This record gives sequence, structure tokens and C-alpha cells, in this order.
Amino acid sequence: MNKKPSNLFEMAQAQLDEAAGILNLDSGIHAILREPMKEFHVSIPVRMDNGQTEVFKGFRVQYNNARGPCKGGIRFHPDETIDVVRALAAWMTWKCATVDIPLGGGKGGVICNPKEMSEGELERLSRGYIDALWECIGPDRDIPAPDVYTNPQIMGWMMDEYSKLTGYCTPGVITGKPLAVGGSLGRDDATARGGVYTIIETAKHLNIDLSKATVAIQGYGNAGSNAAILLNDMVGSKIIAVSDSKGGIYNQQGLDPHQVLKHKTETGSVLNFPEAENISDAELLELSVDILCPAGLETVLTEKNAPKVKARIVAELANGPTTPEADEILYYNGVFSIPDFLCNAGGVTVSYFEWVQGLNRYYWDEDEVHQRLGKIMTKAFQAVLAESLKRKISMKLAAYIVAVARVAEAMRLRGWV
Ligand code: GLU
Repeated sequence: MNKKPSNLFEMAQAQLDEAAGILNLDSGIHAILREPMKEFHVSIPVRMDNGQTEVFKGFRVQYNNARGPCKGGIRFHPDETIDVVRALAAWMTWKCATVDIPLGGGKGGVICNPKEMSEGELERLSRGYIDALWECIGPDRDIPAPDVYTNPQIMGWMMDEYSKLTGYCTPGVITGKPLAVGGSLGRDDATARGGVYTIIETAKHLNIDLSKATVAIQGYGNAGSNAAILLNDMVGSKIIAVSDSKGGIYNQQGLDPHQVLKHKTETGSVLNFPEAENISDAELLELSVDILCPAGLETVLTEKNAPKVKARIVAELANGPTTPEADEILYYNGVFSIPDFLCNAGGVTVSYFEWVQGLNRYYWDEDEVHQRLGKIMTKAFQAVLAESLKRKISMKLAAYIVAVARVAEAMRLRGWV
């Protein structure tokens, strides 16, 4: 890499450039893939509980739709920027291609602090986001979903607002909805479950017995807490540390992830969990564990702390948790990284199932969702592993090669270049 990326989108572009070089990608296709296809910047006026109107900035980036309608979540976060949304939209493009589902990539974001907003304010903001963007999205155009600090209730309000504006009930416009309004069974823990399937495949490849493995999880939101629960309950791994935005907890004997979740729901954080010692987020990342699972925000593993990572497997449940410099260090040190847009693709895969079920008005049982998810995740993992072994490159670069080649083929066949 010539120049160090100065923001997340430049980081995503640099990763693409490396893959493009290896693939000897057509220069026209490469140029198209370096930039988002379309992006929307909107101002959303919201009447706050105190009677004042505040204006929030919102974004939606439609990165690429060569393989199908754009797909990707909406984040509500105080530090949201357009560059972050662009990077995440690019990664959604690679994610959908890696798991080979017929969708493109998109992402949305609103600069706000949902932790300081009332439920009514959040509902008005969610509806306002759709009022501003409804003509740009739709079941055949761009299908949002939950992401950091958005949830099924928010998806329910957004689906309702879109349906009011179009004049008919449109479950296919958004995924991650509550079950009663067209959600899918198995969507709640899909990101974590998909990640666990890739960890199971990794363990087979590396000959690791997961029932004896220790795990540290950074981030205890939807993906992190469900990963802790599934790794504990499904494969018998020991969760020895977890953290959230306020800090972490540690117990070498193992934590009960259900009790930790209960404690977090009651107190607002995992901190001060009985029978555990409080530790910092930085300490958690450097613990001697078999599996380290960054499941929160982006760029937590950098060139500074990557040399100190002692885990054998890094399972990237978050989007973009590792910088390219850190990726190189981990690879050089023999750490097996399961790349984000493979490891966390279970969420969008079950979103795809939800979209299909919604369009057909016919819903599957939970076993069917799990089975189909397992099949897709395992196939995608094996395709990336084969590429990584064949070319002797990291799993991250291999995932880029698989994904970019698929998107490029669709672009060529559609006659874009
Ligand atoms: N926000 C999730 C992701 O980053 C899910 C996206 C979706 O379901 O469309 O993969």
C-alpha cells in the first residue's frame, strides 16, 4: 500500500485495489467499484419531546447493484460520517457476493445519539428517515436493515412509514422486522450464528477442539452477546472475557453469557458483573485465548495492538474491526482471521431469507432457516479457504478475490464495461 488510508472508505478502497491487482481486474470495472454508485444526503427535522425541532443528518449509500437490489443496514451513531457509511456500503457489496446471494451493497446512517433519545423521538426520527428517502429505496431497489443501535422495533416503524407512503403494506422494503410484522424466525441471532458456523469450519481446518476453547468477545450487542451464548451452548466453548462500550469483565473459569446479558440489560453495562474482574477493552484484546471475537465497532485492531494479539483465531463479527496494517501483522504472526464480510454475513443472509419470505407471503420454520444458513455459510467459507490456500494469501484477501470476481462478472455480463 502506497499511502496510509486517512479514513475508513480509503481503507476499503485500498483493500479493493490490492484484490484488483491480483485479479488483473479490467480498469473500467475497477474504477466503477472504487466509488459508490449513488449516495443520498438528507436533513431530517424531528420534533423533540421538549417541543423544539432538531435537524439530524442522514445518509444512504447505494454502492453497487450489479448482482441485485442494494442491501445493508442503517446505523444510528453520534460519530457517523459519510466515509464510514461509504466503506460499510462497499463491504455490504462484497459480503452479499461472498455468500452468493442475489443482492448488491448499500448502507445508511444517521448522526444522532439514540442512548439520549426517548422512544417517541426515536420513532419520529426513524419515520423522518423514511420520509426523506422513501422514493430512493424499495423492495426491488434498496432494502435497509438493522445495524449499530437500530433494532427490530425501528425496522417496524420504518416499514410502516414506507407502507403508508406507498399506500400498501410492503414487508419487502426492509428486513430485521419484528416477527408479527413480517420478520423471519432466526433473524435475531443470525449474525452470530453465521459467525459460529465459520468458527466451526475454522476449528475443523486448524484441528482445534471447540469444547476446550477459550473465547474473548469485544462488544456485547446483538452480534457479541449471541455469539457468546451460541459458542457456550452449541459447542461448549468457555467465554472468559467480554466487553462493551463502558469496559470489560474477565473470569478465567468462564462467564455465564446468559447471566451477563441479564446483568447488562438491568444495569446498562457488563461492568461489575459478580464473580468477574473488571478489565479494560484494550486488555481484553490482548488476552491469551483461542478465539478473539471483535463484535463492536470498526478499527479496534490496529498496527499498535495487533502484535500483542495472542488468539489463534480472530473472528471478525464487527464490520471493519481490523485495519489493513493489523491484518498483515496478524497474518504474519500466524493468527487465522475470519474476515468480517464472511464471518458476519449470517445477518444479511437471513435478511435475504426474510425478503424472499416477505415477497412470497410464506414463512419458514426456524429449523429451515438454520439449515439454509448453515449451508450458505459453510459453502462461502470453503470457497474463501480454497482461494486462500491456492494463492497462499490471507483469508481477508481471499474473500476479496472471491467477492470482487463475482461482482465483476455480473457487471461484465450486464454490459457495464
Ligand atoms: N447490518 C448488517 C450487516 O452489516 C445486516 C445487513 C442486512 O441485513 O441487510 O451485515
